[in-house]
Amino acid sequence: MHYSAQKSGFLHSPGYPIKVAKLCAGLALIVLSGILSAAPESEALPLLIRNVTPVDAKHGLMQTQDVLIDAGHIQSMGKNLAAPTGAAIIDGQGRFLTPGLWDMHVHLSYDSRFIDIMPDLFLDYGITSVRDTGGDLKRLKPILASLYGPGAEAPRVFFAGPLLDGSPVVYGGNDESGIGEGHLTAAQARSKINALVAAGVDFIKIYEMVSPEVFDAFVVEASLHNLPIAAHVPLSMLASDAAPRVQSMEHLRNLEMDCARDADALLEERRVLLEAGQEQPGMSLRSSIHRAQRDPAIQNEDPARCERVLASLSATIQVPTARLNAMTQYPPFAQNDWGQALDALPESISSEWRKASMYMDPNSYKVAGEWTLGMIPRLAARNIRIGAGTDTPIGWAIPGYSLHRELEILVAAGLDTQIAFAAATLVPASFFGVEDRMGQVAQGYQADLLLLDTNPLDDIRHSRDIRLVILRGKIVRDHRRKH
Ligand SMILES: [Zn+2]
Repeated sequence: MHYSAQKSGFLHSPGYPIKVAKLCAGLALIVLSGILSAAPESEALPLLIRNVTPVDAKHGLMQTQDVLIDAGHIQSMGKNLAAPTGAAIIDGQGRFLTPGLWDMHVHLSYDSRFIDIMPDLFLDYGITSVRDTGGDLKRLKPILASLYGPGAEAPRVFFAGPLLDGSPVVYGGNDESGIGEGHLTAAQARSKINALVAAGVDFIKIYEMVSPEVFDAFVVEASLHNLPIAAHVPLSMLASDAAPRVQSMEHLRNLEMDCARDADALLEERRVLLEAGQEQPGMSLRSSIHRAQRDPAIQNEDPARCERVLASLSATIQVPTARLNAMTQYPPFAQNDWGQALDALPESISSEWRKASMYMDPNSYKVAGEWTLGMIPRLAARNIRIGAGTDTPIGWAIPGYSLHRELEILVAAGLDTQIAFAAATLVPASFFGVEDRMGQVAQGYQADLLLLDTNPLDDIRHSRDIRLVILRGKIVRDHRRKH
């Protein structure tokens, strides 16, 4: 097998991505990437999709042709391909073959009521990969083990482990939401990264309360292990200082504070508040800082300064979680299909969520929601990569359904449809450095695919018109009977 090293630390191989951790002697220790290695080998028969129109965010609409899938991969594409013995033949006439979708921001272990249903719902809605952006490994590991047990069908999960926080911890405590862990020194940060590497994480997630010193230690140590980093901008730092050192930033949060005319004074004020609030619960300290600074910063933007801040994001994926930020503008319960989508959830959740409108204060996030929607086309105009993530199940996010809402809101905010489709395919693959094998319909790529009735580049809502979901070369959802 021929290997060539990739920037991200994954090696190219015809099969599953393999991570390499360097040993000091110059030897390379090959460690199978946590969850991808656990993925069951494809035992499916070859699939030959006849006369289908492939479409992806890289190539756009391709010529109508045949696509042969075998051993979990796209083996060949072309006119009148010969059918291998035993191949299942699928009529793709008039239909579209796209990459499976990703949700770049989910929390599988955040609420135990979702653990059993979440993977199934992701597949129902065509989500074949997710990035778990924060979970206690003690709770997450058994979930992952069950997802990849014999006969199990589940999306690929790329996981980070806990939110790597400072002091006080935002998501602290021993209850289910206690997914954050505090780190006070660079030494603690370094040893945590080593523990996470041993646990097989695919990336790390840095949170808002870390000090600049701890942030630096996380970044340096993670890069030694080729681990990509997803981060919230630490409150003790400017977004433009943190951004170039991480691979993705979540929620566009704290970006507005760096765009303000008085950004340096706001940073100083935050550092004082953080120092003074060490005895407070992290959640309430963070909220009080956001409340004090967010809306005034938005209303006090310095366009020239903000231009420099946006320039600092050129190599960093932004995951705006627009559905969450702009909930005032796009309340989930205002959608016609909200009730129907809720019906798929256990009664304990759906009955609670049917009252969502009663709990929502329409003014609480109004300014920040508008700012988020306005920032999306500004990022796109500067070719800053945007990723589609939902924060499922936080903020009434129905697994799978919420990703489609995110894409629709990105387009409504002004994103070109093809760029929005890239946000759920090419961009997440590039975060993990696996864009040479995931996120496109191309020969040699992993066969995580959707057969759609309509072209998603004509209208992003068409990515819901799913006939088949193919994962690792195997049909895992067949909605043909419903049509
Ligand atoms: Zn989150």
